Amino acid sequence: MNRHSSPILKTVAALAAAAVLSLPAAAQDRIFLRIGTGSISGVYFPIGGLIASAISHPPGASLCGQGGSCGVPGLVAVAQASRGSVSNVRQIAAGRIESALVQADIAYFAVKGVGIFSGGKAIPGLRAIANLYPEAVHVVVREDSRIRAIGDLRRKRVSLDLKGSGTRSIANLVLMAHGVDPKSLRRRDSQVGPAVDRLQVGGIDAFFFVGGFPAPSIARLAREVPLRLLPITGEQAAAIRKTNPFLAVVTIPPSVYGRMAATTTLAVGALWTISDKVSADLVYGITRALWHPTSRLILDQGPPATRQMRLKNALKGVAIPLHEGARRFYREKGLMAKSPPEVKPGTTEKPAPKAKPESPAQPAPKS
Ligand code: GLU
Repeated sequence: MNRHSSPILKTVAALAAAAVLSLPAAAQDRIFLRIGTGSISGVYFPIGGLIASAISHPPGASLCGQGGSCGVPGLVAVAQASRGSVSNVRQIAAGRIESALVQADIAYFAVKGVGIFSGGKAIPGLRAIANLYPEAVHVVVREDSRIRAIGDLRRKRVSLDLKGSGTRSIANLVLMAHGVDPKSLRRRDSQVGPAVDRLQVGGIDAFFFVGGFPAPSIARLAREVPLRLLPITGEQAAAIRKTNPFLAVVTIPPSVYGRMAATTTLAVGALWTISDKVSADLVYGITRALWHPTSRLILDQGPPATRQMRLKNALKGVAIPLHEGARRFYREKGLMAKSPPEVKPGTTEKPAPKAKPESPAQPAPKS
């Protein structure tokens, strides 16, 4: 458990230690499902909480269509704070959580055992439920800062987020592509919440955050302190995308953060993932609940990134196997009419170049 977790979450998570991986025998049985998210000041955490509400239907709750959620009967899902994508997939592998929000690149590297998951650290049992929304690479500085480009970050006080975050993995890639050794920075690594506070009081010069936009904590900062995002473009962006084809070019529109101008950067898909140990019936039920029209009302209460969650985009950029239960749902919905190509073993070092957030439906090989 993360130290940010509330006592209630801890209690529920403790109950969930006896995580149930199949549907209950009787409607009153409870099933617990833990969803790993990210920093409490990030975007994963509130969205994970709303997804948990949407798919849950604890015993005694009002019926679907009569004011209650249209979740899975008996299911109690909870969102847990965490360090982010890398930590989340490791927690799934360790059986400490069943499910998590994970960057599409990290999910792929974990399943294939490449990059930080090489050397026998692969997590082949990770499965996808859905692609949710794009996460933009934010490199945030104050508007009045002399830092105009990534190259200007040398010797500056910068946060690359914590070990275990997906943000840090992309931050390292971005810095190296610009010829900046991450070790040459005066590192002040923290999660996005403390980074926002420090930028506000002048305690750091810049921070990285890979997350849905507008990210509420950065939007709040922009109301206090005018901000700029550093662009990631040109040959450096091309070089980064060669190393990590999951990154797509994205332009954050003007005024998303205060009076900031439009800024071009890179973005990766946020996936909802789950362990292959969870039963197909349960995953079918939660996939159906996620995309139920009633869930839209719940999700729309969240950060703006939730509005980008659409059934038609659910398979875009998904380069790890879909969970069998999710696949059953999408097949019923006609999203998988033409069976997408499989991820071939041996393509590990070079992820399919089509595996980008805006790319068409990606492989859903048999688990
Ligand atoms: N993508 C980020 C990570 O894995 C987390 C983003 C968020 O908390 O919204 O580190």
